[in-house]
Amino acid sequence: MTTKKFLLEEKDIPERWYNIVADMENKPMPPLHPGTREVITGEALAPLFPEELIRQEVSQEKWIDIPEEVRDMYKIWRPTPVFRALGLEKALDTPAKIYYKYEGQSPSGSHKPNTAIPQAYYNKQAGIRKITTETGAGQWGSALSFACNQFGIECEVYMVKISFHHKPYRKTMMNTWGANVIPSPSNLTEAGRSILAKDPDSPGSLGIAISEAVEMAAQNDDVNYALGSVLNHVLTHQTIIGLEAVKQMEKVGDMPDIVVAPFGGGSNFAGLTFPFLRMNLEEGKQIRCIASEPASCPKLTRGQFRYDFGDAVGMTPLIPMYTLGHNFVPAPIHAGGLRYHGAGAIVSQLLHDNLIEARAHMNKEVFEAGVLFARTEGIIPAPEANHGIATVIAEANRCKEEGRSETILFNLCGHGNLDMKAYEDYFAGKIVDHELTSAEIDASLAMLDTPTL
Ligand SMILES: *Cc1c(COP(=O)(O)O)cnc(C)c1O
Repeated sequence: MTTKKFLLEEKDIPERWYNIVADMENKPMPPLHPGTREVITGEALAPLFPEELIRQEVSQEKWIDIPEEVRDMYKIWRPTPVFRALGLEKALDTPAKIYYKYEGQSPSGSHKPNTAIPQAYYNKQAGIRKITTETGAGQWGSALSFACNQFGIECEVYMVKISFHHKPYRKTMMNTWGANVIPSPSNLTEAGRSILAKDPDSPGSLGIAISEAVEMAAQNDDVNYALGSVLNHVLTHQTIIGLEAVKQMEKVGDMPDIVVAPFGGGSNFAGLTFPFLRMNLEEGKQIRCIASEPASCPKLTRGQFRYDFGDAVGMTPLIPMYTLGHNFVPAPIHAGGLRYHGAGAIVSQLLHDNLIEARAHMNKEVFEAGVLFARTEGIIPAPEANHGIATVIAEANRCKEEGRSETILFNLCGHGNLDMKAYEDYFAGKIVDHELTSAEIDASLAMLDTPTL
């Protein structure tokens, strides 16, 4: 009988996160101050983040100890399983062996609690009373609500107003964990009031919601802010995924030739791939790591490597990133987690150095892949995860053409059980392909006045 899933025990939960910066020949370039454009130091972040997270953000140490309290909390859903996608392999009639790491069994349904839990923990240690954040589709907001609740911290989530109305169950989920969810733009902040003065019916955006959450945190000593992707410490926390997966692939007795993950700001991609990339950097292995993005938001495949703001308003530090320009407004695709204009500094540097690859996929192909997966493997994937599955299918088909039996591992970073609207639209023929013209991308990038790299 062929084994379907490869499990670890609680005692196998890794004791340290992996910080890939230690192994990078070309380190990511430092962030710049949004006003002066000088290199900023960690201290500039002190009004928003606890000291330990700032230390991790700039750390060059290879391994970072995971606090015992965090490992205890991880036990609620970790270790997560690695499955062999036998049903999908059969449907594709491919000689490739396909495996997936399933992060959808966390309480909020995605990989995001892997960083929400340590972020809440370090804030609690620092005596913080409340954490503010933004959320679009609601995955990050619900993960942080859960984490804050576990550590007895108040949580205030600025949720993009249009999503607040479109995704009522995500809001209820956050309320269940005790969070206060505020539709953004709101009247509670200067940033929100100024937007509402100009446009009382503003549907909101992630950029505006970030501005509101940051303003709230910056004004109060006992309030901090938390981010769910992009930053170095977030990527480092997510390596728990790949560290477990390496142990599981050792159990399988087969190391992957290809590791695939969907890409929004880079956290779940980094999480699964960095521990495999470590083997490339340290042991000379040649594992291909592929990031999958939407053709409608193609920062990795068609963006430019240059300094840009993390938010839409231009309040955050400038980060060296592959970007489509911070003013770029992605089409309203259902994979809300991938609708972000830029990529984190570490992954951007790795792509620039050709140490990782990227693929873009059209919308219909993405949902076709997700439905095939649901019908062959059972789990209904998050729309974001469907992008990774589209890449996996393309690689498995190539293996078939070339008659090669390669091993592919991908990150099923979340389930789609709260994304039924997306699947409903797909079955109703309402999913449309968006491919940007070069002129559209050039126009967005032409609005930047920041240094190219
Ligand atoms: C947030 C999210 C993403 C995108 O964010 P990354 O930081 O790139 O991982 C992808 N998938 C799911 C399910 C998400 O919740």
